[in-house]
Amino acid sequence: MENKTVSKIKERVQSGDFSGNTTEEIFARCYKATEKTLGITPFDEQLAAALALDNGRMVQMQTGEGKTLCAVFAACANALNGRNVHIMTFNDYLAERDYKWMKPIYDEMGVTVGVVTEKTPRVERKTVYKKQVVYTTAKEAGFDYLRDFVEFDTEMMCFPKPDFAIFDEADSILIDEARIPLVIAGDVAVKEDDSVKDVYEKTKEFNEQDFEIDEETENVYLTDNGADKAEKIFGVRSIYSADNSELLSKICACLKAREVLKEDKDYIVKDKKIVLIDEFTGRTAPGRVFPGELQAACEAKHNLKITLRGRIIGSIALQYFARLYPKIAGMTGTAESAREEFEKFYGILVEVIPTRLPCERLDRPLELYYDKAEKQKAIISAIKTAYNDERPVLVGTQSIEESEEISEELKKAGVSHTVLNAKNNAEEAAVIANAGKRGAVTISTNMAGRGVDIKLGGEDGADKDFVVKAGGLLVLVTSMRESERMTLQLRGRAGRQGDVGESRFFAALDDDIMIKNDLKKLCGRHYPSAKTQGALSDKTLLKEASRIQRISEGDTFDERVNLMKYTMIGEKHREITFERRNALLNGSYQSEIWKKNAPELYDKAVKKFGGEKLQALENKVLAALLNEFHSDYLDYTAYLREGIHLTQIAGRNPAEEYNIACEEYYESAAKSIYGQMEGKLEDVMKCDKIEDYHIDMPTRIYTYLLNDMAEEFKVKPILLNVFSEEERSEDIPAEDGGKKGFFSKLFGKK
Ligand code: ADP
Ligand code: MG
Repeated sequence: MENKTVSKIKERVQSGDFSGNTTEEIFARCYKATEKTLGITPFDEQLAAALALDNGRMVQMQTGEGKTLCAVFAACANALNGRNVHIMTFNDYLAERDYKWMKPIYDEMGVTVGVVTEKTPRVERKTVYKKQVVYTTAKEAGFDYLRDFVEFDTEMMCFPKPDFAIFDEADSILIDEARIPLVIAGDVAVKEDDSVKDVYEKTKEFNEQDFEIDEETENVYLTDNGADKAEKIFGVRSIYSADNSELLSKICACLKAREVLKEDKDYIVKDKKIVLIDEFTGRTAPGRVFPGELQAACEAKHNLKITLRGRIIGSIALQYFARLYPKIAGMTGTAESAREEFEKFYGILVEVIPTRLPCERLDRPLELYYDKAEKQKAIISAIKTAYNDERPVLVGTQSIEESEEISEELKKAGVSHTVLNAKNNAEEAAVIANAGKRGAVTISTNMAGRGVDIKLGGEDGADKDFVVKAGGLLVLVTSMRESERMTLQLRGRAGRQGDVGESRFFAALDDDIMIKNDLKKLCGRHYPSAKTQGALSDKTLLKEASRIQRISEGDTFDERVNLMKYTMIGEKHREITFERRNALLNGSYQSEIWKKNAPELYDKAVKKFGGEKLQALENKVLAALLNEFHSDYLDYTAYLREGIHLTQIAGRNPAEEYNIACEEYYESAAKSIYGQMEGKLEDVMKCDKIEDYHIDMPTRIYTYLLNDMAEEFKVKPILLNVFSEEERSEDIPAEDGGKKGFFSKLFGKK
């Protein structure tokens, strides 16, 4: 390959002229350091890829070409020029692996490096994040960012200002998992709230004409009739005004608890508590609660004590977390086919690096079968043939369920094999590393073992010659995925670094994706009218089936764009809230609400407690209110999102309406926070010492991933104690931050 900069770097390596800090010089030093420490010589392709990373590109480089090393070059070049670098790996196992593997190079380069995984204790994280380069996962980094939002002691905040992030297996994190929100929740010491009981009693007057049940979400909405009734019963002017949003959500929750949720199907009552039943396993799920007001409503239904429970304090979708970094780069084997998404969502250009050696992999075209049973027969037979030849075969399935089905069949056929479900990354990495061994049969879901190299003949390459003769690794892709990228990703497991290899790609007419996109209609008379055995051969049918993947890809792309119309605003509001809260806690902004709104009381308080202490407390009280407000905001917007499509009936644009409603809610908060602040000052005055004043903070916090917006309570929280009982210090120099929207109202002009 031809690349002028790469040639220049190598000239410098030869001449030894590389003491400065230009990219070329640093790369040349890194080159030397790699040879010295790891005993390998970087390839030109790796240098070219590293340059692209340094330029903030999305680099496409095939599996096994050595991307881990490329990131080191770009990381060093940026670190030595004053940037903080985060390298986001695909999972904890890889973060640890890559850190250990590459550390000698960083040491040689005089660049500090660290690693943060789920296991890293909270107290150590701050120190690690001070290193110039940090290996971690987007998930851990995102959680740390969120955790700082519930921290009241700036000394305890650990996450640095986002600067430069390199995402490994970038398409998976930035596209496939982009919408997954990271969530932080906490048990907040809320006051005893029995109002739900009262609401529940009153909603007994509602009958069928007063509400509707959405079939899909099973949520309950008021009809016009119901809205009128609610206004009468609860004595409010408009049930839909922002002031009454809490009441409305309580009413809907009570109706849902009464009309939709069934005892012994959705939950049981045990020891005077509501215990949820997992809809998939049918088992009870202690510790899990219904979202929002629904849990309390359910408790009211059975006349139980209304319990305290966790509230979502903050959340951020991975895609927005990535966008917090002013500079990002990425690397993956499959970027090209997602070019548009990378450009649109992240403003990052794709650069394709050619493979060092020509690719010898044979990629077979789509094989289509009449139904799943026929397809499975073909897959099993392909596995058996390979097994008899002792040729290694890797089967990429779509789900754990499918893996198990194939496994059952293989057991019957006496084929020994290994099944991987992406449950234990370290263990599975070891299995995947040996998937190229003579006679190995490995069944794996999409994600298992990503980022792990498959060498022919196994890790030690023992029977490499035999395996090469057998045709190398055979990859079987068992069904069509939502995007071509995923198929390519799987195919790419074979034929690494110029190895021989082969991939086959199966689909059936009754695969979900075919039905969802109506293949039957697309094909018309070419669609088989009766069951046939073996692979289908109609050319039109095959062409249309192949096209389904692109159609589906376009749809999901559109869905994502559309979803952004709903999510952007929340991200904007979160960012402002987070910033403001930080400014209050580190003292770069001073609240003047007490002074301005209750001057007399304020003067008294200054005399009693001293101006400085009072100011620090005021900032902290306001910061805590911002946390509370943000929780309310999240509840409110979640509720809105569920109901907003109803505005379509009235011919309005739901996304627009949603944005307006969010903005209004946000603006209205300024007023309510003012009101609450005044009450707090009165409470402060009741204390003898200012230290006696207690600010409500979460007693316990936990973080988790929402796999799907609607499935939030299927996830297991990762428990975490972050609040110590000690008093927190409040010092911090001043530095002004910008004011936006509601905050300019709340904070006044300075
Ligand atoms: P990728 O992330 O692109 O799939 P890896 O970084 O995991 O690839 O590297 C794959 C394999 O290639 C590793 O075993 C690594 O040691 C080896 N490798 C990488 N760069 C070189 C090099 N310049 N010379 C020899 N081997 C290399
Ligand atoms: Mg890799």
